[in-house]
Amino acid sequence: MPYQCARCNKSIEKFQCYEHQGKPFCEDCYMDILSPMKACDPWAVHSAQTFLQGKDKLSTLTPLQLNIVNYLKGKGEATIEEMMENLNLPEEALKREFAVLRHMEVLRATKKGDKILYTLF
Ligand SMILES: [Zn+2]
Repeated sequence: MPYQCARCNKSIEKFQCYEHQGKPFCEDCYMDILSPMKACDPWAVHSAQTFLQGKDKLSTLTPLQLNIVNYLKGKGEATIEEMMENLNLPEEALKREFAVLRHMEVLRATKKGDKILYTLF
């Protein structure tokens, strides 16, 4: 019996199902809930749109975003706690940058056990 995403109503397989406040969500919706990209954040929207027009997405990244990407390049994958410690960034900033990078299809998140691991797209 497939699960149904509580936000977009998409059918989801059990292994792709993320639980948040007792409800099932697909990966996309879950990541949106965790790191909402606000329409009033002009920089995030600008970054995503710049990518859509540009060929080399990495050339549009801010130094902070490049730091995150390079860290994950070297490590393969990392939890947000590891990135907070190694990049010396607050969780909020990481989630904000991740939202942008995810929309640009530079980074993605996967679930392993009960951990969320961030990795290159
Ligand atoms: Zn969904």
